[in-house]
Amino acid sequence: MSSPSDKLRPPAPQACRLPPHRNGTYWLLALVAAMVLATSVALWWTLHQVRSLAQPFQQSDLWHVSSVHSELARVALLARKVKAQEAPEAELQERLEVLFSTLDLSDTSPRLGTRLRQELPQTVLDLEDLGRHVDRWSARFASAPPVRGDVAGDITLHADELLQRIRKAVVAVHLFSTQESDRIRQDLHSQFMLLSAVLGGLLVGTALLIRKLLHEARSAQALSQQLAQANRQLEVRVASRTREIEENRALLSFILDSSPSDVVLVDVESGFVHFINSQMVERLGLQFPPIKLFLPQLLHEPGASQQLMAALDRYGQVDGMEALIGGKNPRWSSLSARLIEVDGKLAHLLWCFDISTHKQLESQLRELATRDSLTGMLNRRAFLERGTALLDHCRRHAKPCTVLMIDIDHFKRINDRYGHQTGDDSLRACATSIANVLREADILGRLGGEEFAALLPHSSTESAWSVAERIRDAIAKLQILSIASEPLKITVSIGMAEMAHRDAGIDTILAWADQALYRAKASGRNKVLAYESAAAHSQ
Ligand code: GH3
Ligand code: MG
Ligand code: MG
Repeated sequence: MSSPSDKLRPPAPQACRLPPHRNGTYWLLALVAAMVLATSVALWWTLHQVRSLAQPFQQSDLWHVSSVHSELARVALLARKVKAQEAPEAELQERLEVLFSTLDLSDTSPRLGTRLRQELPQTVLDLEDLGRHVDRWSARFASAPPVRGDVAGDITLHADELLQRIRKAVVAVHLFSTQESDRIRQDLHSQFMLLSAVLGGLLVGTALLIRKLLHEARSAQALSQQLAQANRQLEVRVASRTREIEENRALLSFILDSSPSDVVLVDVESGFVHFINSQMVERLGLQFPPIKLFLPQLLHEPGASQQLMAALDRYGQVDGMEALIGGKNPRWSSLSARLIEVDGKLAHLLWCFDISTHKQLESQLRELATRDSLTGMLNRRAFLERGTALLDHCRRHAKPCTVLMIDIDHFKRINDRYGHQTGDDSLRACATSIANVLREADILGRLGGEEFAALLPHSSTESAWSVAERIRDAIAKLQILSIASEPLKITVSIGMAEMAHRDAGIDTILAWADQALYRAKASGRNKVLAYESAAAHSQ
């Protein structure tokens, strides 16, 4: 069954779905990076190949050998014309120089590619051989005396063979260049294929990465929406809980403020007042709740403070302790206290009820319990208690103390003749007369029936004697009327005893005084007699 508060409570936030594991993304990123690297390497290698293909020497070798061949053919033709004297020798010399420069066999010449030198050594040898011939022919033109006719003949002699070798060289270079170009083209094709595959992989990897990133972005967006929703729900719950707590706190404060007891909650160390109700503020005689208050300050008597704190330290709680609470006008209170924890710190919680009226009644009752209801004098028990204390006091201060036992003579007759009411009135009148004679420090009690006892501290038998006589005299002079307005005469007999030795208690001294009283009765009544010890009798 759900409580109303459960219904009011907002729904619990849905569990947030966690995003897919990010390892896949990292793997994809690594793959794309590897693809980019591979693409770069493949591109670099392809560019390298293309550059080598674009190098002019590949074709210039062929052009060079072809040029040498055509120049050699021209030289051979011209040599024949010179030999037939159809052309001047100077022209032949010129053509030789052109051939020589076309050959260009110097070490610094870049014309013949390194690869060509490695692959077609015969061609190189043929060209070098031609070079040596041309060099020799040119040298013969430059010699003195010139032997030019021989040069043209010599050229004509070797030209055909040289032309044939150079023609073969042209064919070989041409063939080599073509094969080389084919090989490079095939390499390039393979590399392009590889590059295409790598680029394809890169494209696929990039596409997968983009797809994954988009998916994650969508997941992150959904997650952030869920989080925002959960956050809103949490805020609503927190606000609701805060409102509930505030309401509960207000209710608690209201209850504590309206409670008949005084309540205060204070921090043990700092004295900071967590809570104090208005009754307690009033009790302390303050206008505003204090900011700091220590528990011992509340108790009027230092002894009670120490007792309360000791009990709290030892047991953590105190119940029903009675103490005076408040500053200037302390009042009796029944207090309970607890040692509790508030916000992780020790605190004292105290609440107390005002029991001053109860205390007043109690003291009145106690007083009444000590008094005789008829005469208002101390009853037997109270007389014995206070008498014992007075005797002890006198004993401590080495002072004398005397007891008077006073008994009305023939009281039974008064009752019998004038009635019980008159008897009571007579008892009250006698008690008042005796009390009027006694001092403030003396105590008077009705021990029973028509029998009174007075204890006179700091009085010996001698000094007490006159007091007893004055009592006897005062009672004898009492003018009491019966209900029927008849005057009646009352006398008393008094027995006296002094605290003779240190060990004598109240009962002993009363017994001695009783003995003296007995003797007074026996010897005619209406008189005062002192107790005489057995030793005194024997004398
Ligand atoms: P004695 O001179 O030997 O003391 O004679 P007594 O008659 O005074 O002594 P007794 O013990 O024979 O009688 C005491 C009487 O006191 C008996 C009783 O009726 C009376 N009495 C005791 N208490 C009260 C009281 O409270 N009121 C009244 N009216 N009479 C009381
Ligand atoms: Mg009597
Ligand atoms: Mg008596």
